Order: sequence, then structure tokens, then C-alpha cells
Amino acid sequence: MATRENTLILFDVDGTLTVPRLAATQEMHDVLKALRDKVTIGIVGGSDLVKQVEQLGASVLADFDFVFAENGLAAYEKGQSIGEQSFKDHLGEEALGELIDFTLSEFSKVKLPKKRGTFVEYRKGMLNLCPIGRSCSQDERREFFEYDKIHKIREALVEKFTAKFGSFQTADGRQINLKFSIGGEISFDAFPVGWDKTFCLQYVEKRFENILFFGDKTAKGGNDFEIYNDPRVKGYTVVSYQDTIRILKELYNV
Ligand SMILES: [Mg+2]
Repeated sequence: MATRENTLILFDVDGTLTVPRLAATQEMHDVLKALRDKVTIGIVGGSDLVKQVEQLGASVLADFDFVFAENGLAAYEKGQSIGEQSFKDHLGEEALGELIDFTLSEFSKVKLPKKRGTFVEYRKGMLNLCPIGRSCSQDERREFFEYDKIHKIREALVEKFTAKFGSFQTADGRQINLKFSIGGEISFDAFPVGWDKTFCLQYVEKRFENILFFGDKTAKGGNDFEIYNDPRVKGYTVVSYQDTIRILKELYNV
């Protein structure tokens, strides 16, 4: 039987507990409260904690046993921080500097009809790399996207970057594996292999007999795909937050 001690249910946020980008309904809050009497509950989302508070309320850290923001790069249990990781700390200043230098050097060799500014955006869990520059206008963005479809600028860059940084050793002998992934219209991201939602499992895998995961983007290419298919987890695919409520009522009579 599922108990608070042996069972953890992890939820994606957007499309699983809420309409994407919007706040959770009162019904969802009531169902989760009833569920928490029976099992341990947590959330794992790609957004930061600020966005999670907007969607799930100011008491989100109190309402869930585990809160994993940015896929678990910021981890909380019972309101207390239990882990903090960043791209910078993972790589170390030297390797991060090399990656940024390589980016600027490669971007300087790319011929484009237009270039603007902000070619590297530094984020907590990744670098966002943009050959045209993120400060381009909406029209320039569209133009680049069409140009890139024909000339495969980003594809060629991803290949070069992967060859150099896909698997390498830092000066102090640590093994680093980076993934380069095209997203959106103008840029590609650099982040460590494994820094998807499965990142959060290190904090809970040894503590529960059963870990369930509910998510809406569980197909290949979706941001729930890796955790949904992880052998440590029993995955459920939902099509909306109403679907989540329906399944929870069925499974736990909440
Ligand atoms: Mg989602």
C-alpha cells in the first residue's frame, strides 16, 4: 500500500498541474492537499522558483514536500534548500572561459547577412549561444530563422561544438560531457548531459520504494521524456491538469 514513507509522486508543472504559464485552480490545490495525507508529493519544473511561486502560490515550499526548480538545480525539501548546482560550478571558470572564447571565435567566422548583439547569454544551468545576437528585432529574428533553414548555420555549429566539448577533461582532470541543442529560432543551448528532469532523482531515489511521475511532454523531444522513461520512475502521461486530477482520484480516491 502506498504511504507517505514509501511513495513519492513528482509532478511537472506546466500542462500537468496548471494550464501552461497560468496559476493552478482551487480544485487542484484541494486535490493535492488531500493527496499529501496519503503520499509524499513534489514538483519538478524547468522554471525557476519565482515562476513556480507565481503558478502554485506563495506557500509552494510548504505545500509540497519536495520542490525542484530548474529541473532540480535548485532543490528544496520541507522548505529548506538541500542542493544548489550551476553550470559555472560544474565546468569551473577555466573550462567555462574556454567555451565562451571558442564561441566568440567561431561566431566571428560565420558570415551572416545581419549581426546584432548579445551572442552569449549566461544562465544558471546553461549557456545560450546565438550567432545573430539576441538583441535582434522580431523581423531580424524571423529572417535569420529562414536563412538558417537553408544554410544550416546552427546545425554546423552544433557539430563543431560537440566535437570539441561533447566530451572533454578539465585542466584538473574532471570529465565533462556537454550537449548542444537547437531550440527556438535563433540560438542553441549548451548544458551538461543529464541536466534534464532526471537531475532531481539523485535527491529522492534511495528514500522511496515507489516514485511516480506525472507529465504532459513525455514524447521524444519533450522536456518530460527523460524522467518519464527513467527506470527509477513509474511514469504517467497526462493531456491537461484535469486529466491529472482524474487519474489521482482513480488511484488514490482523493
Ligand atoms: Mg509540462
